[in-house]
Amino acid sequence: MTLREISGVNKMNNEKKFDKETIAIHGGEYEDRKYGNITTPIFESSVFRFPNNFEDAVIDKNRNLPFIYTRLGNPTIQSLEEKYAQLESAEDSLGFSSGMAAISSTLLTFLKKGDRLLSLNKLYGQTLDYIKNSLTNYGIQVDFITVEDLNNLNFNPKYYKMLFFESIVNPTMEVIDVKKIGKELNDYDIVTAVDSTMSSPVNQRPYETGIKIVIQSATKYISGHDDITFGFVSSSKQLINEISMKRKVFGGIPDPIQAFLISRSLKTMFLRVRRQNENALIISKFLKSRGITKVNYPGIESFEYFNTAKENLDGYGGVLSFDLEASYDKAEKFMDILNVIKKAPTFGGVESLITMPWETSHAYISENERLNIGITHSLLRLSVGIENINDLTNDLEYAINKI
Ligand code: PLP
Repeated sequence: MTLREISGVNKMNNEKKFDKETIAIHGGEYEDRKYGNITTPIFESSVFRFPNNFEDAVIDKNRNLPFIYTRLGNPTIQSLEEKYAQLESAEDSLGFSSGMAAISSTLLTFLKKGDRLLSLNKLYGQTLDYIKNSLTNYGIQVDFITVEDLNNLNFNPKYYKMLFFESIVNPTMEVIDVKKIGKELNDYDIVTAVDSTMSSPVNQRPYETGIKIVIQSATKYISGHDDITFGFVSSSKQLINEISMKRKVFGGIPDPIQAFLISRSLKTMFLRVRRQNENALIISKFLKSRGITKVNYPGIESFEYFNTAKENLDGYGGVLSFDLEASYDKAEKFMDILNVIKKAPTFGGVESLITMPWETSHAYISENERLNIGITHSLLRLSVGIENINDLTNDLEYAINKI
């Protein structure tokens, strides 16, 4: 069977003829001219004919040879990676079975015993736990830096092998000055890596700014439907090749069916995320207008990081947090009263979800530490979906009036 990329799309993208909205739909798709398929088929095959001497054999980009075994590379996954790399403006991408597989495989590609990692001190709980309690067991030294010091570049890049941070802090929403970090550190040897899950490639493309590695938990905005667990790493061809060696031995390759579903999700990503941006901005303003003073959303002028957000983001995202400044019981009641908005601890999907970080994402740290970083027992994180905006504000209005 002969597979070919849709002639023209990738080639023309190289000439910068097509917008990313078009690439999200057509980019990277493999067409078998004998069938005339429009989307890449699912190659649910763990192994391939070996040796494959067919002159038109499609090449596994990580090995520069025909496909041989899916843990090393697979046509459906590769087709998705070729589409996705273009959306991050990177040279190449790798798909992973989860965001955590993408993060751990990337860190272990570049860090070895004696190396120093500089990490932001506020990260997704499991990433922070992994860096603090697992990486250090391998003799890797880790220093933690605050948002303020990172944004002011208050560290010596020559001292570190790698820098790892998230582009927007969850759930308190501090925005990192990715543009400044990418520009200022680009000429240093330090491997800069950002987890930009909270922004998605619709709102931010760190690779364009000089950041060397961009990681995504595609479980969030990219999947967009709360039904797939997936991860991406995007970078230069050379660094991706190095990371692919670790993916091969750690085994974090996704299943081809999941890759197919993520490719399907990417086709509506721009529509979904832009609608989420719009809904979240309206809801942030709505909550303020109803007397909730502490609303954390990068897109409202009263928020401390608004200017950094304006500088760095094309859209402000679907996630916001707000403090009811009430008892734990009242905050729980507020969430239970909601009807359209469901209580669940993730973000980025088409359905609006609410959670209390105090008892979910940050339950593992001490009460004092939680309070110190602004996570109270009445701070709620809302992930805004694409529902009708009036249904969402009515839902919130009803709950506000009830408590
Ligand atoms: N990075 C961020 C910012 C996250 O919020 C999460 C999960 O919530 C992850 C990484 C981990 O991703 P996954 O659940 O796909 O492994």
